Amino acid sequence: MPELPEVEVVRRGLHEHVAGRTVAAVEVLHPRAIRRHLPGAADFAVRLTGQTLRAARRRGKYLWVDLSGGDAMLAHLGMSGQMLVQPVGAPDEKHLRVRVRFADDGPELRFVDQRTFGGLALAEIVEVDGTPLPRPVAHIARDPMDPAFDADAAVAALRRRRTEVKRALLDQTLVSGVGNIYADEALWRARLHGLRATDKLGRAKAAELLAHAAQVMHEALGEGGTSFDALYVNVNGQSGYFDRSLAVYGREDEPCRRCGTPVRREPFMNRSSYSCPRCQPRPRG
Ligand SMILES: [Zn+2]
Repeated sequence: MPELPEVEVVRRGLHEHVAGRTVAAVEVLHPRAIRRHLPGAADFAVRLTGQTLRAARRRGKYLWVDLSGGDAMLAHLGMSGQMLVQPVGAPDEKHLRVRVRFADDGPELRFVDQRTFGGLALAEIVEVDGTPLPRPVAHIARDPMDPAFDADAAVAALRRRRTEVKRALLDQTLVSGVGNIYADEALWRARLHGLRATDKLGRAKAAELLAHAAQVMHEALGEGGTSFDALYVNVNGQSGYFDRSLAVYGREDEPCRRCGTPVRREPFMNRSSYSCPRCQPRPRG
């Protein structure tokens, strides 16, 4: 599943390759990819055609492109969604779901998605605290990489929750964009076990944890994002390489990069959590 740095890589790619271009034709090859656009695939194609794509934007892992008509084209990458920019006439990908052709006859935008958990939709823009957002994204909190992220408010919100710290990190209404991989990496850097209670976390420790989350994602972005899924590639079809520098995620039984203790893997919400038993002791009780 793409995490925030990967989504940011895709956003930058879209901004570079499609912003300012006018849509000439839209072809929906699989209706499931448009299921979140409730009026249906034909309505999606008709309303998108003729619009000029403006800036590509992101809130957490949600991605959209502003349209000249005032709405936004919202993209959910789901588990395996890819946005590809391909020359007109290039062979169709096996799992091509939506094709957008442009009036300039330049490279077309393709939404490719093997597992079809992702999709595209048109959405109305609403104002939330002075920021225009597509309506389906209005409840999503800012992510720690967002220049307008309010760290003090996020720390206070985190400490008000009566939950475990890893669950809180993954709660998109509290802090957005932190997925399983970066949550584990941030917890390792902060020397916290994910089962620690948020309401017993000191203010300084909570602030440190969020700063680590932002830092690890900035580092990943610098390296083109993390990729554990061969299906994930960015807008130009290149995979990320950050996985080589992860400290704990995916490193069960390998030595902790700080103390050498073998990394432990524990089940977590149908997935896994990775941590160092020595640097991140499990809370008592
Ligand atoms: Zn360790």
